[in-house]
Amino acid sequence: MGLLGATGAVGQHFVRLLANHPWFGLTWVAASERSAGRRYGELPWRLAATLPEEIAALPVHTLDGEGAPELVFSALDASVAGECEARLAERGHWVASNARNHRMDPSVPLVIPEVNAEHLELVEQQRAEKGWRGAVVTNPNCSTVFLAMALAALRPFSPRRVAVTTMQALSGAGYPGVASLDSAANVIPHIEGEEEKLERETRKILGTVEGGSIAPHAVQISAQTTRVPVLDGHTEAVSVELGRAASREEILAAFAEFAGEPQALGLPSAPAHPIVVHERADRPQPRLDAETHGGMAVHVGRVRACPVLGWKFVLLGHNMVRGAAGAALLNAELLVARGLLASLLPEPLAIARD
Ligand code: NAP
Repeated sequence: MGLLGATGAVGQHFVRLLANHPWFGLTWVAASERSAGRRYGELPWRLAATLPEEIAALPVHTLDGEGAPELVFSALDASVAGECEARLAERGHWVASNARNHRMDPSVPLVIPEVNAEHLELVEQQRAEKGWRGAVVTNPNCSTVFLAMALAALRPFSPRRVAVTTMQALSGAGYPGVASLDSAANVIPHIEGEEEKLERETRKILGTVEGGSIAPHAVQISAQTTRVPVLDGHTEAVSVELGRAASREEILAAFAEFAGEPQALGLPSAPAHPIVVHERADRPQPRLDAETHGGMAVHVGRVRACPVLGWKFVLLGHNMVRGAAGAALLNAELLVARGLLASLLPEPLAIARD
C-alpha cells in the first residue's frame, strides 16, 4: 500500500495501524518537498508505538506518485490533497482519502462501512464521468463519523432534527496544531469549516443512491464545534427529535445492536460492536474510553429525555482512528472484500461469510 501525507498526525496513525495489518503492508510513503528524499525514520515520529524498522527505512517520495502501488491512502493536507488524489485516480490508483476535497463531489462515495456501504456503487459513475481508471473513495470528517453512526442506529425511529455541540481534541488540528497558549485550560468556540461539514456530510452519508448520485437524508442538523484541551477523542452532546415514538429501552437496544457489512464480513478493523453503550452517568470519557476496542468503536452514554427535542445523549469517538486513519482502512477493507480491488484479495480471503 501507499500513503500520502505519511508524516502528519493522521499519517502516523496510518503507519501504526498498517504495521500490524493482516491484509495490507506499507511499501511506499510520500509527503511534502520538506520531507521528500529522506528516510521515513529520519523524520520526527510522535506516537508511543514503535516504528517498525522496515517502515523507517522507506524513502519518502514527493506527491508525483512515481512508483506508488495500486491502493493509496491519503492523509494529505487539504491544500494539496484534491489535485494529487485526482491525478493518482486518473492514472489507475484507488485512493482511500481522509481529506475533505472530494467528499461532497456527487460521484465520490463518502463512506462509513456500517452505514452506507452501498454508496460504493457511485464508483462506476465516477470513473465514467471523470475518465479515471482508478477511483477516489472518502471517509467523513472525524466528528461526522460519530454523529452519522449514532443517527444510522436511530434510523428505525426516523431522526428529523438534531442539535449537536462538539468538544474536539487537539490532535484533530494536526501537527503542530493549536498553539499551547491558546489551547491550555481553555475552550475555543470555533473550528473553521467544521460545523458545515457535520451538517452537510451527515446528510449525504445517510442519503440514498438515486440515479447515480446521492439524495441527501432530510434530517436537519444544527452544529456547534469547539476545541478543548483533550489529546485524543472527540465528545459530542447531541439532542435529537425522532419522527417515530421510541422508549429509552428501544433506543439503547438500537445503539447496542447496531452493526453492518463490516461485522457480517468480519473485516479485520471492524469492531464487534460499532456502538458501545455506557450506563454510568460519568461515561464516556476521552481518557478512559477513546482507546478501547482499538479506537474503532463509537461510545454512547447519558441517553435521556430532552425537554426540547425529545432525546439527548453524549457521543465519543477516537478522532485519529475511527475518525481518520481507521475509517479509511475500513473503507479499503470493504473495497477488497467486495471485490472492487480484486488484485488485493488475500489468499485465501480470511473473512467469515456467516
Ligand atoms: P498534518 O499533521 O498537518 O499533516 C499533513 C500532511 O500533509 C503531512 O504529511 C505533510 O507533509 C503533508 N503536506 C502538507 N502540505 C503539503 C504540501 N504542500 N505538499 C505535500 N504534502 C504536504 O494534518 P493531519 O491532522 O494529519 O490531517 C491530514 C488530513 O486528514 C487533512 O486533510 C485533515 O483535514 C484530515 N483529517 C484529519 C483528522 C484529524 O483528526 N486530525 C480527522 C479526519 C480527517 P510534511 O510533514 O512533509 O509537511
